[in-house]
Amino acid sequence: MVQIKKFVFSPFQENTYVLYNEDKEAWIIDPGCFYEEESQALKEFILEEGLTPVKLLNTHCHLDHIFGNNFVHREYGLLPEYHKLDQPMLDMAPSQAKLYGIDGFQDSPNAESFLKEGTTINLGQVGFEVRFVPGHAPGHVAFINHSEQIVIGGDVLFHHSIGRTDLPFGDYDTLIHSIKSQFYTLAPEFTVYSGHGPETTIGEEINNNPFTK
Ligand SMILES: [Zn+2]
Ligand SMILES: [Zn+2]
Repeated sequence: MVQIKKFVFSPFQENTYVLYNEDKEAWIIDPGCFYEEESQALKEFILEEGLTPVKLLNTHCHLDHIFGNNFVHREYGLLPEYHKLDQPMLDMAPSQAKLYGIDGFQDSPNAESFLKEGTTINLGQVGFEVRFVPGHAPGHVAFINHSEQIVIGGDVLFHHSIGRTDLPFGDYDTLIHSIKSQFYTLAPEFTVYSGHGPETTIGEEINNNPFTK
């Protein structure tokens, strides 16, 4: 059984997820902590629960999803794992921060290893399939657990909305194709934990998402 703790961080209101199991092993996914008190909130939660972070994962490398990579690296010695095709997003992040007028952006370290679609990564006994879902970002991936019907989906699909495609290397048709081929083929009961906003389900979005009708 995987437990999921969600934080909402930074002026971008980004969802950071900590996934953990009975053995207290934890993944930190898309740490978006930007302000010192946000990093401390993440740290305190991990301390209080007695967790050992074993992986730092990025669904994609947009600014708001990697704000805390530097902190997590310093605090827990973890290097990020993301898809190779999102390396340009990570490389671009410091200049994007300037563009948005954000002071105090801390550079993310580079990947320890790249995530590959079709592989499974394990949190203890629980496997998560890595799915390639480009369109919002060129190397966007989602983490899918079939037994507990969980999708950690990043900025692909939101409650009644979809990810932006007007950012560098975004592509609308590619995004719609990713959603329909990689998400909508899952059972309707799957819960989607998105990069922004509330959780939703595959069934809810198939039936009511205006962008994919
Ligand atoms: Zn994004
Ligand atoms: Zn985002």
